[in-house]
Amino acid sequence: MKQSPGSCVACHRDEEATPLIPLHYRGTSLWICPQHLPVLIHDPAQLVGRLPGAENLRPADHHD
Ligand SMILES: [Zn+2]
Repeated sequence: MKQSPGSCVACHRDEEATPLIPLHYRGTSLWICPQHLPVLIHDPAQLVGRLPGAENLRPADHHD
């Protein structure tokens, strides 16, 4: 099985399946796909357990 260079932190699709946006975070390189970028912006808590330290990220301000 081919080792892929990276996969989305949320859905684990690799760059063969979706464009990936590189993230640089705490000295590591991670990737996220455009479909999950809004999750990172608005609801990073959903990535707890997938993105190390996501529990410390604050969602972008939106007025509910
Ligand atoms: Zn994804």
